[in-house]
Amino acid sequence: MNTVTRVLAPVRGTLAAAVALQALGSVAGVAPFVAVAEIGRALLAPEPVASDRIWLLVGLGAGAAVLALIATTLATTLTHLADNRLQLLLRRRIAGHLARVSPGWFSARSSGHVSKALQDDVHSLHYLVGHTLLDVTAVLVTPLAALVYLAAVDWRLALLALVPLVAGALLFRKAMSGAGPLMAEYGRAQTEINAGIVEFVDGIAVVKTFGRGRSAHRRFVAACDAFHDFFASWQRRTTSVTTASQLVVTPSLVLLLLLGAGTVLVVAGWTPATALIPFALLGPAIVAPMGAVGPRIQALRGGTAAAASIEALLAEPVQPQPAVGGEPEGTTVTLHDVAFRYPGTESDALAGVDLELRPGTVTALVGPSGAGKTTLATLVPRFHDVTGGAIRIGGVDVRELDARTLYRSVGFVFQDTTLLRTSVADNIALGRPGAAREEIVDAARAARIHERILALGRGYDAVVGEDAEFSGGERQRLSIARALLADTPVLVLDEATAFADPESEAAICDALSELAVGRTLLVVAHRLHTVAGADEIVVLESGRVTEQGRHDELLALGGRYARMWAAQDGTVLAGQGVPR
Ligand code: ADP
Repeated sequence: MNTVTRVLAPVRGTLAAAVALQALGSVAGVAPFVAVAEIGRALLAPEPVASDRIWLLVGLGAGAAVLALIATTLATTLTHLADNRLQLLLRRRIAGHLARVSPGWFSARSSGHVSKALQDDVHSLHYLVGHTLLDVTAVLVTPLAALVYLAAVDWRLALLALVPLVAGALLFRKAMSGAGPLMAEYGRAQTEINAGIVEFVDGIAVVKTFGRGRSAHRRFVAACDAFHDFFASWQRRTTSVTTASQLVVTPSLVLLLLLGAGTVLVVAGWTPATALIPFALLGPAIVAPMGAVGPRIQALRGGTAAAASIEALLAEPVQPQPAVGGEPEGTTVTLHDVAFRYPGTESDALAGVDLELRPGTVTALVGPSGAGKTTLATLVPRFHDVTGGAIRIGGVDVRELDARTLYRSVGFVFQDTTLLRTSVADNIALGRPGAAREEIVDAARAARIHERILALGRGYDAVVGEDAEFSGGERQRLSIARALLADTPVLVLDEATAFADPESEAAICDALSELAVGRTLLVVAHRLHTVAGADEIVVLESGRVTEQGRHDELLALGGRYARMWAAQDGTVLAGQGVPR
């Protein structure tokens, strides 16, 4: 079974019925022309006119026209119903599947990837299901029905009517030969132009300031030139054959051929003159599909690619969940010989990490950039599953905890706070839906964001992205309010205050101090002075723990931490701003 059939399987029955109805409608659509042709032949025949037969033909033609209308309308209705059902089904399946892949999968991919599948790909399928399938049926059945009738009238002329179709098809094939790689090249050339535009526009201010305006758009101009050369040479090679493929199937040319050849047959006495009427009416219909082939092939290709991309998304491995979740005893977090390697990478981001985070203590992760601090922090709330060793909360492996228990135990405040397009209150109450307004306000107050929310026109009812916009530091404080309200005993946080202004940073430090009270805290520290008072400082280098202890102990050790400390601003008093 190919991709498209697999993806369309849930609506196969409805689609089959729609195609059958469309085929019936297409045949019925040819019938009025047949009736008119037959009426013409009857009226022009040397025999006396039988008016009963004429009226019967009128009735049949009119009846067939109505039937065609009903059948095609029904077919279109069915495909649109099927399309609606399929879109809902696929979106639910994708959403359901995405809910089960590891949270870390998302950070590794742009939201564009997911939105493309949910929106563009599902929409491409709409075109295939709702329109292309019926179009293709009509495009094949109509000429076939016409051909059957014409062959019954005069098989020689009917055969002749096929000549332009065959010639057109052969020429079209020639025009399309090698189109696959050329289309890929076309796509590459366009991507290069887009990249050139982005580079040009992004860098415009810098480039102007430094007076290098000409070189800035060099890539863009080069990409445009390359595209022009490529496209012109492609066009030069295929223009004549493409034009010829369209010319041979133009209705007037086909009529000329049929009536010319027909006249020869009539003059020779091989066929009556009235036999030309059906060919004048229906001859051009036989070649009509040629004009419609290109766009349909394109739509079919688009639909197939979309189906493949949806299938690929649905094949992303899900994070296994335990059948019956374990019950943690206490909230001590232990990391035992933890190793982790990102999928598709050659080396471990973490290896042999042993740690114990006791309740009510602050553990700070420090180390150079790329040492694995963030990776380690995200493993605790199971953003990814460890590739070696185990992480346990209250003695239970996080992989043995059901998601509810896990997220009731571990909260997190990471750098990129996602706010949903809903009210500020709902955003804070995300971890505890149904929280009372006073509790939300208390959390916001403790997170030092209450005043800022009140300054919004609609306060807590303001909608993020509509009448509420927040800076990086403010978003972080909102996420702290969220964590406070969720009130988990273990909290993992990335103390990134890098983008906050001094005032905001002070507010964030205060908010973090509120968070730390009575919790187990694991902090990714970017500046040492904020964690010098931590119960335990863990130095990570290249994914391994190289030093571990309290600030004084590590200074006395005179190793990596001591050097990092010395390199930092020595005037900062140890212990200041510690989130305690
Ligand atoms: P830190 O937080 O200490 O700066 P990270 O935990 O972000 O370090 O990164 C640790 C290592 O893992 C780095 O070598 C980084 O390049 C790699 N890494 C981080 N995220 C990914 C990812 N999504 N895919 C592959 N490698 C990653």
